[in-house]
Amino acid sequence: MHPPDVPAAEHAQPLFRLRGIGRVYGRGAAAVHALRGVDLDLFLGEVVVVLGPSGSGKSTLLNILGGLDAPSSGTIEFEGRPLEAADERALGEYRRRHVGFVFQFYNLIPSLTAAENIQLVTDIADDPMPAEEALAQLGLGGRGGSFPAQLSGGEQQRVAIARALAKRPRVLLCDEPTGALDLATGVRVLEALMQANRRSGSLSLIVTHNSDMARLGDRVIRFADGVIRSIETNAQRAEPAELRW
Ligand code: ADP
Repeated sequence: MHPPDVPAAEHAQPLFRLRGIGRVYGRGAAAVHALRGVDLDLFLGEVVVVLGPSGSGKSTLLNILGGLDAPSSGTIEFEGRPLEAADERALGEYRRRHVGFVFQFYNLIPSLTAAENIQLVTDIADDPMPAEEALAQLGLGGRGGSFPAQLSGGEQQRVAIARALAKRPRVLLCDEPTGALDLATGVRVLEALMQANRRSGSLSLIVTHNSDMARLGDRVIRFADGVIRSIETNAQRAEPAELRW
């Protein structure tokens, strides 16, 4: 039985619920407290921009959400199930089924075509999009036969996003996705990312040091020194073309 004041609507349930998340690297006098007591709920469909100076814990948070790292303390639930105690096999399964990653440096395999890079991921996914469909959604229809070296930086990043989205993840985690791109190219990549979020309804988290990108998010989380300094809600998301760089 649910108490009557608990909302039944599914959208009210967070996709992630983090409580008291800490992450310590090293021990003793050399210990680094990368995260210190992070409480956070994240919801399907939202775009969340994570800001903060270098070393403030943004990547550590992303790695924990993505099942690449485990917290030293605290609890993290995904769809109501605890992740913090998951073993390697369970975390691998979680990543495979639910998480798409986009990194600053694309991480495409140079000896494989764009389509083959995507198929590497979709071959082990449950209900993937065909590679060509994923590429078409990122404005790269017909480019599946191109090798990474034949694509511009922005195109390579769009292939990386297509690869992440092709497995239809609930969670898209982007670490400095435009960090290596010039303004015009970065805007195109962000437009593709925002459109993908609208189409897929996944939770999209974008880590950046570019504070103007805060306007792209439904919410903006500012980190400082391993803690959440503030969480702001934007009434409206800005369009990437409105950004300064
Ligand atoms: P950000 O992404 O905001 O730049 P990070 O999450 O990468 O911050 O790092 C937070 C802190 O944790 C930094 O002091 C960093 O040096 C430290 N750190 C991150 N990863 C490791 C690691 N694997 N081993 C030791 N220290 C680490």
